[in-house]
Amino acid sequence: MQVLLISTFDLGRQPFGLASPAAWLERAGAEVRCLDLAVEPLDETAVTKAELIAFFLPMHTATRLAIGVIDRVRRLAPATHLCAFGLYAPLNELLLRSVGVTTVLGGEFEQGLARLLEQLRGAAAGKAPSASDAPPSISLERQRFLLPSRNSLPPLERYARVDLGDGTRRVVATTEASRGCKHRCRHCPVVPVYDGQFRIVQRDVVLADIRQQIARGAEHVTFADPDFFNGPRHALEIVRALHEEHPRVSYDVTIKIEHLLRHARHLPALVETGCLLVTSAVESIDDSVLGYLDKGHTRADFVAAVRLCRDVGLTLNPTFVAFHPWISRRGYLELLELLAELDLIEQVAPVQRALRLLIPAGSRLLELAELRALIGPFDRRALVYPWFHPEPEVDQLQRAVEQTVREATSSRLGRVQTFVQVARLAESALEARRQRPSSPKAISSAAGVSSLTIGTQAPLRAPVPYLTEPWYC
Ligand code: SF4
Repeated sequence: MQVLLISTFDLGRQPFGLASPAAWLERAGAEVRCLDLAVEPLDETAVTKAELIAFFLPMHTATRLAIGVIDRVRRLAPATHLCAFGLYAPLNELLLRSVGVTTVLGGEFEQGLARLLEQLRGAAAGKAPSASDAPPSISLERQRFLLPSRNSLPPLERYARVDLGDGTRRVVATTEASRGCKHRCRHCPVVPVYDGQFRIVQRDVVLADIRQQIARGAEHVTFADPDFFNGPRHALEIVRALHEEHPRVSYDVTIKIEHLLRHARHLPALVETGCLLVTSAVESIDDSVLGYLDKGHTRADFVAAVRLCRDVGLTLNPTFVAFHPWISRRGYLELLELLAELDLIEQVAPVQRALRLLIPAGSRLLELAELRALIGPFDRRALVYPWFHPEPEVDQLQRAVEQTVREATSSRLGRVQTFVQVARLAESALEARRQRPSSPKAISSAAGVSSLTIGTQAPLRAPVPYLTEPWYC
């Protein structure tokens, strides 16, 4: 049977989410073709030849892009069985079924895809389908992973690189040492699927996958785990073995602030084994907002983690949900001020200053009555519940920041210069508010604005490493 696996977007990485199921389907005897539409066009001949077409939906952007592709595929191959798999597939199950997807798989999806293949073979041979043949839409069953099959994916050189900060760029391998997460942050799309659980990929498979990508030119590894320190022992065993075998290969990981503090004693081991960059979803510097998001850290924890990472020589790459229903113009400026004060301007990708809270289907944020009062009906095109800030000026500021960041990125403006432009927008937005009948809070903000301006003019530290495709959902 011919199977076509399609990815639309995976943060500029060669998708593990295609390579891993490809191995399972090949073992089951399928002829598998992987198509990564982030770097190659849709091959219409491959679409018309396939008997099963499965779309990998690991995130919001990927899902939005896939909806358009599904429509095109449907017209080219109206009778072909369509499947959607990955984190966002079960979250958008109803919508996906309405556009022609028959099978939806979330969580540990490799086994489910292999079962689907068997089911389709049985149907082709005239076997009546039984309910027990159909894989569940969410499976957290522990799997014995196979070495991902990367043969039909575009070469690693076509993907995002890591820039060491001095213009030197390394080819990046991507793998996963675990999936899911043992935490339940309210805004996180991992939670509706894994609900506080995580699953590991066996160490020998992870190392063999890295080895095969290094043989194809990789010089750096991105571990795409939602949180590398959900299982710190497993994680450390892998990076120690990686470093022993490939001492010149660097890597990056994602670790939450709470874990950076709790496992602080392990941070030197990350540095010693070649960790170049740690991404951490800080989201907000306001403790009440962090409480709404159930993040498990405070503003003080974030500041402590910045110092801790700096002390051991780890580059922290904090990410934020800059705009949400609880932010004020003053609060946004405070975020910029803190980034300047902590000397993080170069370490935060400009897009992080423009991101708006996403409320996807199934989000735990819908538990919050005060948020439910601010959202509109589910938007099938945008795949989110739309929300509007109680102050329209904050939404205006967000749009202005987004536009500025987009233009700055396309004109390759530096991070500091982009930051200054965003800071000016934030200052103007606050100034407009101050020109209304004055309030004590507005007057007290003036000192912060000038200190921010001064902060951006101060001498900057050396350039820092970064991934050429910034992290966002
Ligand atoms: S720690 Fe990260 S991956 Fe885990 S639930 Fe929170 S946001 Fe999601």
